[in-house]
Order: sequence, then structure tokens, then C-alpha cells
Amino acid sequence: MKVINEVRMTFPSKSSNERFARIAVSGFISQLDPLIDELTDIKTSVSEAVTNAIVHAYKNQVGKIDLTIRLLDGNIVYIKIKDYGCGIPDINRAMEPLFTTAADDERAGLGFAVMNTFMDKLVVRSKVDKGTTVILTKKINSRKVTDE
Ligand code: ATP
Ligand code: MG
Repeated sequence: MKVINEVRMTFPSKSSNERFARIAVSGFISQLDPLIDELTDIKTSVSEAVTNAIVHAYKNQVGKIDLTIRLLDGNIVYIKIKDYGCGIPDINRAMEPLFTTAADDERAGLGFAVMNTFMDKLVVRSKVDKGTTVILTKKINSRKVTDE
């Protein structure tokens, strides 16, 4: 699918960068003039994915998170969150609502369920000890055309 616009960034997995990632995504997609609800859904999903990279992928260490945001033809927002952390041994299981490996930290196991509900599509790729890539896509019912 044709890429209309794209931005990439890399930041360390510090919890303060969760807010930064949310604001960066929101700033970039504002050119589509999304509805408030659409923006909230996307920001919440990005927040869940970035938080997962911070708390699960790198646990008590700090590693690299790559964030790619694209506007695709047809008002589609594409967001890729990639880490190089511990990886997920069983992706299907991890994506089940209420599954968590961090119940002691009061995690609910709902992050992937939230991303699935709020976005049109959620793709997760992962390799143990290599890292995890989460791709989120959503069509925006924008009032604007994308390549104005
Ligand atoms: P919550 O998101 O509700 O706080 P959670 O993070 O445990 O809880 P999910 O976001 O659904 O729930 O993730 C489920 C499980 O998948 C996690 O407990 C963790 O084991 C694994 N996981 C998710 N993202 C990653 C990642 N980037 N790297 C390694 N493991 C991950
Ligand atoms: Mg989570």
C-alpha cells in the first residue's frame, strides 16, 4: 500500500518515553484531522504497546524501542513498535485476554485485548531473545484528504 507520509524514531525504554510516544503519534496523525474517539483509541493502543516493550521486553534494563508511524493510502494509520528484548515464547497465549506473566506487578493481561479492540488490525511477531514487533493499523474517518 502506498506510503503518503512516514516518520521513524528510536528512544530508550524509559517509562517517561511512553507519554512521548503517545504525543508523537498523536501529533503526526493530526494531519488527517481524526475524530477525538479515533485519536483516543490510537493513543491508548500505542501506550499499551510501548508500555509492554518497557516493562516486559527489557524488564529491569533499558533497551531500544523503534517507532515507525505511516500514513497509508486510503486514510490508514500504520504504527510499528519494535523492541529487541526478551521476546514472547507463545504469541497466541500472550494475546489471550487476562493472560499475563506479571500478575505480581498488578498487570491485568489486557494490553493486547485493548489493542485488538481499538485498532482495525493487530499483528505481533516475536522471537525469544531477539525481540518483538507490534503493528497496529486503523482507518481514519477523516474529513480531509491525505495528499492535499
Ligand atoms: P496489562 O497490559 O493489562 O498491564 P500485560 O502487559 O501483562 O498486562 P498484555 O499487554 O496483554 O498484558 O501482554 C500479555 C503478556 O505478553 C505479557 O504479560 C508479557 O508476558 C507478554 N508481552 C507483551 N508484550 C511483550 C514484549 N514487547 N516483550 C516481551 N513480552 C511481552
Ligand atoms: Mg501490557
